[in-house]
Amino acid sequence: MDSYTDKFNLAIQNTFFTKLPLHEQEFIREKSFFYKFSNQEIKRIITITRDLEMWDEKRISILFPEHSQKKVVFSRLIKAYTEIQNKKNSYDNFSLKNIPKEQKFTFKVAEKQGFGLGLCPVASEKTRCCNLLTLDAVESCGFDCSYCSIQSFYNQNTITFDSSFKDKLLKLELDPSKTYHIGTGQASDSLMFGNREGVLDALFEFAFKNPNVILEFKTKSDNIKHFLENDVPPNILCTWSLNTKTIIENEEHLTASLDKRVNAARKLADKGIKVGFHFHPIVEYIGYLDEYKEVYDMLTKKFKASEVALVSFGTLTFIKPIIKQLRGREFRTKITQIEHVDASGKTSYPDTTKVEMFKHAYESFSVWQQGKERVFFYLCMEEHQMWTKTFGYQYPTNNDFEHAMLESYSNKLGQDYLI
Ligand code: SF4
Repeated sequence: MDSYTDKFNLAIQNTFFTKLPLHEQEFIREKSFFYKFSNQEIKRIITITRDLEMWDEKRISILFPEHSQKKVVFSRLIKAYTEIQNKKNSYDNFSLKNIPKEQKFTFKVAEKQGFGLGLCPVASEKTRCCNLLTLDAVESCGFDCSYCSIQSFYNQNTITFDSSFKDKLLKLELDPSKTYHIGTGQASDSLMFGNREGVLDALFEFAFKNPNVILEFKTKSDNIKHFLENDVPPNILCTWSLNTKTIIENEEHLTASLDKRVNAARKLADKGIKVGFHFHPIVEYIGYLDEYKEVYDMLTKKFKASEVALVSFGTLTFIKPIIKQLRGREFRTKITQIEHVDASGKTSYPDTTKVEMFKHAYESFSVWQQGKERVFFYLCMEEHQMWTKTFGYQYPTNNDFEHAMLESYSNKLGQDYLI
């Protein structure tokens, strides 16, 4: 075996080479032997090929430059790839691949060590954060949103219920003279499994027992049956993660449609339950501002400010393991096809893009920013200065942010805010 064959076989190890279509593997092999690409160059070409396929863009054989010199070929390839990565996306000719048609997972009930109550897993001092406490009522999620970071934490095919969840929850000792904000929608979707294993019964009992807790259920489902059929504690918020139809259809697989989510929220608001809406991630693509505006306008028509406690905005942020995980999946997404810039150790859009999308979103809800029933707006996982650029103000500390949020939620829920 000649030395370059050894070199090539070494370079393709621990890469997505074998996940590429055979004709693309052959193409990379042929070009590598012709130009004698280095180990790193081969790995980069494999990643580029994987991304182009995942984004459903021009394939490597089309994009590959013709030139006699390796150096010129490689730098032109990187340039062409970067232009495709950074251009404004379009879902017009985007075709999905291997998208699960139905939720396939198994349920497991097991005694879990410890109790999943802790600070929001994505909170950071580098971003202006609300100090949300998250409660892992269920582990893993049955939906399949391509941008979701949970997928790197849990086994997607097994949904785990803690057999001692209720006991632990009701034994939880909290300071009754302090208001807490606890969310259940981080490690899983709060409502998609309904009252399976009595989870919602336990959470309702906990909320009734702890009126100083503001308990937030966050969801992409329309499974509100338990809330319609039972007395709901007054200190509960039900919030929906919303997006445009384009993103829901192309990136939020197996979730409830936009209309189903909004109608579910409407039904709970009719029952006097305070609702809220999270636009996270807002995703940039050609025509996105107009499509988001339609959603914003639909909400301000369907809901009164007095019925809505919060609206939050956020966008894509990536950690390397997620990008690697997505490349490892045999499906298509455009979610990583963005101009990645550093964002507090993660990657995200450039600030100019963020300011455009966040200011547009905030200004679209101006009717909900007036008077004593005004809605609480916030940015999630964003750097301090993005607040000033979006809202014209920022909180000096995370505690100030939390204070303002809980005071506003308490007012909306008609309960005392205990500091
Ligand atoms: S702002 Fe977002 S990321 Fe930060 S603590 Fe609150 S929910 Fe978590």
